[in-house]
Amino acid sequence: MFEIGAEYRRRDLHAQYGGQTQQGISTPANSNLIFLITGKSGAAYGYDDGWEPEGVYRYFGMGTTGNMRMEGANERVRDAAEDGSELHLFEDLDNGFLRYMDEMTLAGWKHQDNVPDVNGQPRRAIVFYLSSVNAESVSAPPPTVRAPEASGLWAVPMPELRKRAQPNQARVEEPKQAARRVRERSRALRIYVLRRANGVCEACEEAAPFKTPDGRPFLEAHHTRRLSDGGLDDPRWVIAICPNCHRRAHYAEDAETFNNGLKTRLRGLEAG
Ligand SMILES: [Zn+2]
Ligand SMILES: [Zn+2]
Repeated sequence: MFEIGAEYRRRDLHAQYGGQTQQGISTPANSNLIFLITGKSGAAYGYDDGWEPEGVYRYFGMGTTGNMRMEGANERVRDAAEDGSELHLFEDLDNGFLRYMDEMTLAGWKHQDNVPDVNGQPRRAIVFYLSSVNAESVSAPPPTVRAPEASGLWAVPMPELRKRAQPNQARVEEPKQAARRVRERSRALRIYVLRRANGVCEACEEAAPFKTPDGRPFLEAHHTRRLSDGGLDDPRWVIAICPNCHRRAHYAEDAETFNNGLKTRLRGLEAG
C-alpha cells in the first residue's frame, strides 16, 4: 500500500484516507488504517522515539500535558491487532511531507515515569514497542524439533497454543522482553496453523506433498490479508497450505478470488 522510504504529502494522505491532520497518532474513521507519525517536533513533549538495539521501535503515546492515559488513540494502538487495524509508521520531515518507514505490529508497551510534558512538568508516559511486520516471515519454514526452544510447542494443547499465537496487549518492562515476545508468538502462530491443518492443505485439502527431516508434513503458512507473508498477526488470518496453493494465492491470474476463498475458509476453521 505504501512504499518504504517514499515521501507522502501529509495533506494528500488525509485527503485520501481521512484522519486527524495534526496528531501524532491519526486514526481515520471507517478505515482499518492507523498512522503513527514520529518526528523531531515530538521532542518538545519529551518524546524520544527511536530504534532499540533489539530491533523494536520505541514510540511514545499521545498526550501533551499530564499523565498519558490508555484511551482514545493510545487504546487504538494497543488494540490494533485485535481490531484488525494496520499500524503504519511515518517520519515527519517537517516540510509537510512524511516518509514511510514500515508497517508495524505491537510487541508490547509500558509506562515510563518522569517524562517532561509540554510545560516541562514530569508525568507518566506510555511507550509502545513496535516491530516491523516484515521482520520475520510467517511463511518461513517452521522450527524443527531439533530447536529446543520450539519443540515444546508441538505438544502444547491447541487452545493454549492458540492463546499464545494471538495478539496480546500485554505490558512489558524492557525492549528485550518485547522483542522476545514477538519471536515467541511468531513461532507459536506458525506451529498453531500447521497443527490446525494436521498434514492436509487447508485450501485444496490434499495431503502435504512431503515430510520435513523431522518427519512432519510440509505446509506453508500464508497470510491472507497481506501482500507479503510478514511477521506477526492473528490465527484468524493465517492459513496453512501446500506450495502449489501458496503460489496460486500470490501469482495466479485468479489470485484475488482464490485468496478471498481462503479467507472464507478460515472463518469456518477458526469458528471451531
Ligand atoms: Zn493445496
Ligand atoms: Zn503467502
